[in-house]
Amino acid sequence: MHPEAAAMVPAARIGPSRVPAVTRMLSTGGLASDATESDEPKFLTAVGMYFDRAAKHSNASAEVLKHIKSTDSVLSVTFPMEKDGKTVMIRGYRSQHSRHRLPCKGGIRYSSAVDLQEVEALSALMTYKCAVVDVPFGGGKGGIMIDPAEWTEAELERITRRFTLELCQKNFIGPGVDVPAPDVGTGAREMGWIADTYRNFNPQDVNGAACVTGKALSLGGVRGRTEATGLGVFYGIREFLGFPEVQERIKHHGKIEGTSVVVQGFGNVGYWASKFFESGGARIVGVVEHDVAVHNEAGIDVEQLSQWRKEHGTFRGFPDATVVEEPMRVLEAECDVLIPAALERQIGLRNAHRIKAKLVGEAANGPVTPGADEVLRASGKVIVPDLLLNAGGVCVSYFEWAKNLSHLRFGRMTKRWDERSKEQLLTLVEGNAGRPLSEVERRQLIHGAEEHELVYSGLEDTMIVACGETRQTANAKGIDYRTAAMANSINKIAASLAGSGSIFTHA
Ligand code: NAD
Repeated sequence: MHPEAAAMVPAARIGPSRVPAVTRMLSTGGLASDATESDEPKFLTAVGMYFDRAAKHSNASAEVLKHIKSTDSVLSVTFPMEKDGKTVMIRGYRSQHSRHRLPCKGGIRYSSAVDLQEVEALSALMTYKCAVVDVPFGGGKGGIMIDPAEWTEAELERITRRFTLELCQKNFIGPGVDVPAPDVGTGAREMGWIADTYRNFNPQDVNGAACVTGKALSLGGVRGRTEATGLGVFYGIREFLGFPEVQERIKHHGKIEGTSVVVQGFGNVGYWASKFFESGGARIVGVVEHDVAVHNEAGIDVEQLSQWRKEHGTFRGFPDATVVEEPMRVLEAECDVLIPAALERQIGLRNAHRIKAKLVGEAANGPVTPGADEVLRASGKVIVPDLLLNAGGVCVSYFEWAKNLSHLRFGRMTKRWDERSKEQLLTLVEGNAGRPLSEVERRQLIHGAEEHELVYSGLEDTMIVACGETRQTANAKGIDYRTAAMANSINKIAASLAGSGSIFTHA
């Protein structure tokens, strides 16, 4: 422990707090402080509960609600894989929650905790998420029940390729059918293996690259996809902090500068969200991992922390923050914004009453259980829900998919044309202006957008619009942001279903 850092963190700030009376007895049942994870609904049930709560505020009929809520199809596969001379049976799933729009879209997760109900829950969330941000996809999700740390790279490649083969054979993958993306335990490497396997089985498919997103640039990826979810989290929280009613509720100045942030999960989403908050002027005061957490009231240097973890495999020994061996204590530390960016069910009845953050930004999928959601809101906190806040990933995946189908890099046709038009305009304006522009000013003004600038701009606009729509519904109906986002989503899906007719369902 760094002595200076330790001095900066008063023990009381990350210690246990008293349980507010309101959290003791909840409508979901049970004593908050005595509750354990198993007392709470499973993830799939929780997503269903959030859906039912929002359904009451939607315009959809009971029949249409039934249709939207249920899962279209699930695939469960088991295949053998050799490890250390023995055969291990590997289990994988893909769930297509809704095909009201095609392709289905959603990540593939590698984790020993993967099971069918989790994959189904995540695919349902994907349906609602795509609708919230107007991405024209249905919801999908996949998972393989393995701990990737226990397998070599060559074994992971074989598992990924074999799983993709199963998806190909069962028609659960394809640019117009179902398009996976990275999630927990997977990244550009796995997406590259998936794309390559799909192409081997479909060599005639000229749009084959669009069968998966989150690929490396060299394989048809789009600039900005890696950081997209974290950047979307940043844009979303920035929007909500800017709303006067949020500032009033949580007593916050509304700016990113000076905002203190705790992040749980330092993987793709948590790392990038931390980076964007840090460069916006926020202080990252805590980072929580599964084994240990770090805390420093003065702010943690995100890049240094990341380098340390890469070199040592843990935060332990990091010199510029207090290392806290009970990670959950940092999750419960004093801060303005808490960003759970690890896994589902991290804030439940067992710990919701100890959360001190004023705003909880759900970067992970399903990090707050329905009971905890009630506790947090009852104590005046604002929750920005997962289906809205972490939609940046699928939004930029949509851009990547569109790029692959067009076979054209964004900006390629327009960059020079834009620059030349602006150059001509400037020359005209300069004739009437008081002074000629410097070379730097001229270059800045005429600069034509690069691919990553277009992607960032498209993502920012998407998040601003979706946050605004959510806020409008919440204020108009006097409901919380999760319910509002989901009600908007239900209305959009219902409208799309209504437009497709009923010849196969009604007499
Ligand atoms: P990742 O595998 O890159 O990172 C997850 C991190 O969380 C890892 O560092 C892991 O060690 C840590 N972690 C695991 N269990 C933890 C625990 N109990 N406490 C603290 N830390 C823990 O995964 P990711 O892609 O960053 O995804 C994180 C979350 O964001 C997931 O819920 C995922 O579904 C969601 N999400 C991801 C994307 C995306 O584009 N990757 C998009 C939308 C939503």
